[in-house]
Order: sequence, then C-alpha cells, then structure tokens
Amino acid sequence: MLVQIRSPREEPLGEALVDRQARQVRYLRVSLTDRCNYRCTYCMPEEGIEHRARGELLSLEEIVAICRAFAAWGVERVRLTGGEPTVRRGLVDLVRALRAIPREGGGHLEVMMTTNGELLGELAGPLADAGLGGVTVSVDSLDPARFRRITRRGELARVLAGIDAARARGLRVKLNTVAIAGFNDDELASIARHAWSRGATPRFIELMPMAGGRLFVPGELLPAAAIRAAIAEGLGAKVVADDGAGVRGLGPATYWRIAGGPEDGRRFGVIAAMTENFCASCNRLRLSASGQLHACLARDEAGDLRAALRSGRPDALAVAVRAVLGRKEDGHRFQLDGSGGPRKAMVTIGG
Ligand code: SAM
Ligand code: SF4
Repeated sequence: MLVQIRSPREEPLGEALVDRQARQVRYLRVSLTDRCNYRCTYCMPEEGIEHRARGELLSLEEIVAICRAFAAWGVERVRLTGGEPTVRRGLVDLVRALRAIPREGGGHLEVMMTTNGELLGELAGPLADAGLGGVTVSVDSLDPARFRRITRRGELARVLAGIDAARARGLRVKLNTVAIAGFNDDELASIARHAWSRGATPRFIELMPMAGGRLFVPGELLPAAAIRAAIAEGLGAKVVADDGAGVRGLGPATYWRIAGGPEDGRRFGVIAAMTENFCASCNRLRLSASGQLHACLARDEAGDLRAALRSGRPDALAVAVRAVLGRKEDGHRFQLDGSGGPRKAMVTIGG
C-alpha cells in the first residue's frame, strides 16, 4: 500500500549549519528504530536494551519534516540507520518521501541506508524503485559459524544474497566490517576480495567503546595501521594512500589503494575513530528514533527535536538544532582502554 507522507508543517529557509570550528553539517544520520533482528556482540548487550515505546518514536511524517528543514539548511545526504532500519514499517514510503525533498543547492536529497542485510533480498527492489541511492551492509565474517557468533543470530547466506539483490537493482554497495583482533583479523583480505568481486567497496572499522565501555574488550581493538598491514599481507601486495595521507570522502573513512598483484588499483576504506581521529572534518549530526539530535556519536548530550516539532512554534525546530550545533565539541574522548565513551549503546544511535 502506498502511504502518502506529508510533513506537518513547513520550515522557513535558513542559514547553513556551521559550528564553532567552521565545520559545516552536510550529512544527517537518521535512526529509524532502536530495535534490531541481530544482537552483534560489540553493539548490543546480550540482555538487549530497554526499547523506546512506539509512541515515543518520531512518526514518518515528523522524520520527513525534520529532513526537509535540514535540506533547507544545506544538508545534502541522509543515511537511514537503526538499530536495524529495515525492521521499521513504512521504510519504502519514507525513502520515497525523503527523495522528493529539494536540496538547497539544487537537485534532491540523497538517501542512503546502513543495514545488516538480513531483509535486503526482499527490500532491495522496492527501495531502489523508491530512489534509495545505496546501501552499506555490515559483514564481519565470511565464515557462517563466525558470522552467527558475532551477530548472535544472523544467517550469512541471506545477507550475501541481499547484497547481490542490491547490486542487481543498481544500488551502490559498500561493505562495513568491524575489524576485531582474534576474531576476523585473518580474513580481512578475503572480505575485501569478496566485496570487490561483488562490485562493492569494502570498509574496515575500528572498534569503539560505546555503552560505557561494557562491550569493549581492549585486546580486540585492531588499529587502522594493523588493518592495512593485514590486508597487504593477505593480498601479497602493498597498500598505499591515494594522496599520501589517505583520501577522505564525504564520510569518516580514509581510502587506500592496493599496489601490485592481481588486485592492483582496488580501493578500500578505513574508519579509525580510535587511532586516526577524524573529528576535525566531522560534517554530521545524528537523529535518534525518538527525535534526540546528537552532535557527536561519542557523547550523550542531545537536543529534543520531537518536543520542538510538537510544540507547534514555527521557529522551535531551528532554535533546538542551532543549540545542539552550538554545543558540538571539537572531538571525542574515546580512550584505547575503553573508557571515555558515551553511556548510549551503538544500537540506539546507529553508528
Ligand atoms: N543495523 C545496521 C548495521 O548493522 O549495519 C545499522 C546500525 S549499526 C549500529 C551501524 C554500524 O555500526 C555497523 O556497521 C556496525 O558494525 C557498526 N558498529 C556497531 N557497534 C560498533 C562498535 N562498538 N564499534 C564500531 N562499530 C560498531
Ligand atoms: Fe543490530 Fe547493526 Fe547493532 Fe548488529 S550492528 S546489533 S545488526 S544494529
């Protein structure tokens, strides 16, 4: 059934979102739910989390209204995340409605999604038709037993079939792999090869100590330099930075290139919040499923956009957003021993 999503009110045009460090926000991550059909060990406590009641979530119409305002303020791209975004009802209609939002600089808002891929086999076609630009799919192992161990319930074959479906429908695909010492450090090169063979770009992520550090095991952190070394060794080639320091795209990843061997010229990304901090170029804000706007993944402070929107005051949303932006800190406080992170679990904000 096609649902017509109309935003409850229009936001006036405003100025670009620039913080005290002259960082301009061009990218909004939007969590659609704090629920997930997986229970990845580094993301969600085994006992689960206390979920927000459904009535506390932003409605799809409210999400569209907020994204329309951000687009008027210069945001070019939104990324839907979770928990797991594909378990939110109305996802396809939401993507269609978001894609219709005009961008300040011309064209329309770009809409991307990060997913565990479990439901992508069924959803890739409808999402592509609705205008989704691409998906980032999380795959931490190509060994089905390991994959199940880390996700506590995932089925690898379903996810790989989902990736194929996404590619077949013309979606751009990236693979996200959290690199974990003693778990998948022996298969990073094979994961990269697998991604390339599927037309996808692999990206490797350092573990971050969310949830008050409760899910973080210091010996499991694989630093970016070790990730690159493992890939170079596994491929029997060199890894070089595209421009001498790793090329940074719109997001937090730096990109690296294989030099030599059969994979010569192939690229992969590294997201290294812990050892190669990228806070200075941070261009994003994060919206939780209940409408809390977070200026930083690594901190708990947030502004309540749901209350602002529901207040009915025409300028309330703009005021709340600017207040959050004004408090955006220069950087995170993650420490290598697992301290310094936020109380919130990754599953509640979506990465
Ligand atoms: N459920 C979707 C998924 O798994 O892709 C979207 C949400 S998930 C929280 C987004 C990304 O965050 C995933 O790639 C996941 O592997 C990553 N992630 C979760 N917890 C993490 C942690 N503690 N450190 C680093 N990355 C983490
Ligand atoms: Fe769910 Fe994604 Fe977290 Fe895994 S990483 S538990 S799939 S939200």
